[in-house]
Amino acid sequence: MLTTKAYGAQSATSTIDPMEISRREPGPHDVLFDILFCGVCHTDIHMSRGQFPRTIFPMVPGHEVIGKVTQVGSAVSKHKIGDIVGIGCLVDSCRECGECHAGEEQFCNGRVGTYNAFERDGKTPTYGGYSTRMTVDESYVLKISPRLDPAAAAPLLCAGITTYSPLRHWKVGKGSKVGVIGLGGLGHMAVKIAAAMGSDVTVLSTSDSKKADALRLGASDFAVTKDAATFKRLAGHFDLILNTVSANVNYDAYISLLKRDGNLVVLGIPDGPLSFNAFGLMLKRRSVSASLIGGIRETQEMLDFCADHGIVSDIETIAINQVNEAYERILKSDVRYRFVIDMASLR
Ligand code: NAP
Ligand code: ZN
Ligand code: ZN
Repeated sequence: MLTTKAYGAQSATSTIDPMEISRREPGPHDVLFDILFCGVCHTDIHMSRGQFPRTIFPMVPGHEVIGKVTQVGSAVSKHKIGDIVGIGCLVDSCRECGECHAGEEQFCNGRVGTYNAFERDGKTPTYGGYSTRMTVDESYVLKISPRLDPAAAAPLLCAGITTYSPLRHWKVGKGSKVGVIGLGGLGHMAVKIAAAMGSDVTVLSTSDSKKADALRLGASDFAVTKDAATFKRLAGHFDLILNTVSANVNYDAYISLLKRDGNLVVLGIPDGPLSFNAFGLMLKRRSVSASLIGGIRETQEMLDFCADHGIVSDIETIAINQVNEAYERILKSDVRYRFVIDMASLR
């Protein structure tokens, strides 16, 4: 086993503190890499504070991982020593079911999360990217183009794919009217990617102070959602709305902003059930749906799309011992727009 330095939570009420974990020695199909950078996703906070149905402690969060390959198994063909690689939210899946065959591993009942999960043996816990190195099967390791800045590319591995996948699935293209609720980690990636797909993007935000940023990131319009006039001005306007807010919102109000056949996609994870009236949907055949990250093939497609369009995240780089402070700032919507841990600070 490879003894590895990490930061993690011992329980749902503890802070994120130094610990040691074991990684497996690379088998024939594995890639071992040094972790260079890891993004801090709001999900890291939900999970490490026990807000998800299942939590496994001790927990090492982090699923926006960029690394440099140091060793490859004898059967590895996709990656070689020295390559810059990425890991998102998945490190394995059953590989046999319809979802896996369709490249939608995120929906596989046997998917293995990068952390807060067990390997396919059902007993070895997985640990995330707040650590110095990682061993992962080559099929779940993504290639990072040398055209992408490695630190700013880290958030593509979750925030990027989580927004790219529904934009592609619901066929956003030139002239589509896209609304993005919440300008945080996911929201700012949604704006950049939807704008690069040719759509007209409106940011729907609680923070008046984010207007200039929204326009710089590629939005053509910005509306403050605390202002009732927003819901009159934009009534029936959108083909697609992505809700990236980590708390509950007024669904009826946002549904009224959809066109006929428009769709509101839930991406943020509130801690209670969603509620909305049937008529808001029925009278215009609107839908509310949800989306979960994306599969491995689509994640690679998104990374290549971002390399082609010069898209990375707007980041604030921190040292690992600043992660607790970063969590508090994320909870106050005080991040422009993703914290990324420089893992040199842990070596
Ligand atoms: P984040 O950086 O904290 O961004 C969330 C944004 O939502 C904030 O910046 C803020 O934007 C807005 N917001 C926050 N609290 C709000 C409130 N009480 N009412 C209204 N707006 C509020 O978080 P993130 O990392 O982007 O993640 C967002 C959510 O998506 C989290 O719940 C996370 O767990 C979830 N997630 C889901 C998936 C998936 O596969 N579906 C993947 C990754 C993350 P404004 O200041 O502009 O209002
Ligand atoms: Zn995430
Ligand atoms: Zn499967």
